[in-house]
Amino acid sequence: MNQISIIGAGIGGLTLGNILKQHDLDFTIYESASEIKPVGAGIMMAVNAMQIFDKLGLKEKIESKGNKIHGICIADEKLKTISTTNVLALEKKFNSCNVAIHRAELQNMLAENLGFENIQLNHSLQQIQKIENYHLKFENGFETECEIVFGADGIHSKVRNQILKAGSIRNAGQKCWRGFTDFNLPEKYSHHALEIWGKGKRFGFVKISERKVYWYALVNENKFAEKIDLSETFRDFDSLVLEILESTRKENIILNDIVDLTPIPKWYAENICLIGDAAHATTPNMGQGACQSIEDAYVIGKLLEKNQNFNSIFEEFQKIRRKKVDYIVKNSWTIGKISQWEKGNQLRNFLMRSIPESINQKMVEKILKLEL
Ligand SMILES: Cc1cc2nc3c(=O)[nH]c(=O)nc-3n(C[C@H](O)[C@H](O)[C@H](O)COP(=O)(O)OP(=O)(O)OC[C@H]3O[C@@H](n4cnc5c(N)ncnc54)[C@H](O)[C@@H]3O)c2cc1C
Repeated sequence: MNQISIIGAGIGGLTLGNILKQHDLDFTIYESASEIKPVGAGIMMAVNAMQIFDKLGLKEKIESKGNKIHGICIADEKLKTISTTNVLALEKKFNSCNVAIHRAELQNMLAENLGFENIQLNHSLQQIQKIENYHLKFENGFETECEIVFGADGIHSKVRNQILKAGSIRNAGQKCWRGFTDFNLPEKYSHHALEIWGKGKRFGFVKISERKVYWYALVNENKFAEKIDLSETFRDFDSLVLEILESTRKENIILNDIVDLTPIPKWYAENICLIGDAAHATTPNMGQGACQSIEDAYVIGKLLEKNQNFNSIFEEFQKIRRKKVDYIVKNSWTIGKISQWEKGNQLRNFLMRSIPESINQKMVEKILKLEL
């Protein structure tokens, strides 16, 4: 029997594995995929996540495989600035930088650091039942028992559905394409991300390594959305967007719906706890979903320093994390809607331009600061 099982080797499960290892606890991670090959090319690890990776001794390694990003600019179709958020001062304050990186690079580093021997691939959880301990049944026929379970199995979490029996998926009505390509961006975008807002559509890109650019495109859903030609759809955007799209091979593009999880009242039950998207999936508009799963793992680690009783840790964990996570889920949803307006965009852009930089900085600081 294992003492601790983690279901899911996404960024949340892998970070938690690293934290438990630091505490010398025995655990096994069960992952349904046959290899650590995450969906989606690039990801931004913001300063909150990078502070945690620093404590895990991984900061320099992640920085060396990714690209430091000191700010994000929002612009209109013709690249006229709507808002700029520079994080250099906050990066100095928290002694960590935002890093854009290939997801596979990041997840492999996390897996390597905790030891591949602690991860069981090809183990898709089918059924979880509480008898005295938790009984886990996997699709490959393997069965095991354990005392403590962490559900890090993403937005469609079986752990959540079968034990907590809560949570419904909310669809934002937007389709999202993500891709990566070898592309030489103009120098000014070397360490700044750009997001371009049009009418009912958005395009963003960021450099993730010396040669690679990660991009995403969102379009309001309609009956043609799945079949649209991206180059045609973004023809009224600056030519840089078309060049990036046209340089991308089809096999390097994926398509998803934008969804989140309606807040659930409790993330834990006896000897079981959800983390990351399984507990509080958010839309990606603040680039914080994975960062929040990393913060979850970190807070569990901090609580373990004082106390080894998992049930009281789970209760305390939710008390500490709830407010920040709810704030992000709510604001990210709103930003997603405003950024995809189809009418009144000039007014929106005017109002956005009049928001003082200090307000922006305050909001960003609130997100980048760790709670413990
Ligand atoms: C378009 C887009 C862009 C994004 N950009 C960013 C960004 O820049 N920064 C950021 O911080 N976040 C970003 N996010 C959010 C981020 O991807 C998620 O929040 C993050 O991946 C959640 O991590 P997780 O480990 O909780 O869940 P997941 O990444 O979903 O991992 C869950 C793991 O569990 C496994 N699993 C599922 N079911 C089972 C089962 N039954 N048995 C065993 N294993 C199972 C899955 O295979 C998977 O490996 C973005 C999301 C989207 C959609």
